[in-house]
Amino acid sequence: MNCFHCGKPTKVFNSRNADSPDSVAPRLIRRAREAVSWQTSEWVVRQRKCVGCSRETETIELPIDDLIEGWKPLGIESEVEFDTHSDDSIE
Ligand SMILES: [Zn+2]
Repeated sequence: MNCFHCGKPTKVFNSRNADSPDSVAPRLIRRAREAVSWQTSEWVVRQRKCVGCSRETETIELPIDDLIEGWKPLGIESEVEFDTHSDDSIE
């Protein structure tokens, strides 16, 4: 992932998931839970630092299906029809 500010690559220096103990990076884990625990228990949160401008950012990843389902009660659905059976596998 590239920096949102300058576009240079970022490096991950901390990575936690839903099963990580609270005692390790508690603020990061709490932020991730606040952001996505209402819609999924499967997530990975990462702290990244830009190799260009040194800014730090936090990102989170979760299963796409969980994200789509999580937005539906809010009336937010994509206008794009997805073919969930097509073969997009990474080679
Ligand atoms: Zn940057």
